[in-house]
Amino acid sequence: MRRLMMLLLAIAFVTASAQEVICHRGYWDADGSAQNSIRSLVKADSIGAWGSEFDVWMTADGVLVVNHDATFEGVTIETAKWKQLKDKRLKNGEPLPTLEQMLECGKGLKTRLIVEMKPHTSREQELEAARKIVKMVKKMGLEDRVEYITFSLQGMKNLKELAPDGTPVYYLNGELSPLQLAEFGMAGIDYSIKVMREHPQWIDEAHSLGMKVNVWTVNSDRDMEWCINYGVDYITTNAPEKLQHKLLP
Ligand code: MG
Repeated sequence: MRRLMMLLLAIAFVTASAQEVICHRGYWDADGSAQNSIRSLVKADSIGAWGSEFDVWMTADGVLVVNHDATFEGVTIETAKWKQLKDKRLKNGEPLPTLEQMLECGKGLKTRLIVEMKPHTSREQELEAARKIVKMVKKMGLEDRVEYITFSLQGMKNLKELAPDGTPVYYLNGELSPLQLAEFGMAGIDYSIKVMREHPQWIDEAHSLGMKVNVWTVNSDRDMEWCINYGVDYITTNAPEKLQHKLLP
């Protein structure tokens, strides 16, 4: 009985202590890198980051483009045609990447691919984006390496329905409790550090429901230490190497 207790405690410790680093928009604060670039994904992988996050929009003619903002150099992605964007370049000189190029690169890496689907103005277009993203991930054979995140509540439900069972889908917007999200079958919460400092009880609530907690964008020493001490599972950051150092045993 005592041995069993010790074993259970050891398992609980290992489970509780597994805290992982996710690079926010890839590891972009590095030589030759840029936000949401292919290079930023390669850099994230090269430092052994658990995951690398990037943002996805769909053009009016159905091309999935990796970019944070709704616009790129004045062109609104969701209403543009791909030909208006295809020759544009990122700050590091790389061409503006498509999701296909990003996933193609990801195939050769180990880091998990954290795909953020941006909320589109048109619900139909957003549903189409979700369909195309899930289809492309399948085609690339990356279903076991991808997790989805989104600020769109409908988008979250769409991704949950379209992706294979067990694919983690997280909600970013911050207004729903873990219990409310559990009803939709979500993997957990992925909320800002500001929201989490206002609702620290959501960490235990999520864990007691078997859900995970991801917090963004955690850059300062103070915020990193708060997340580590509160047992946050995934910490999304612009300073991945600093965070890795703090997580060293
Ligand atoms: Mg993002």
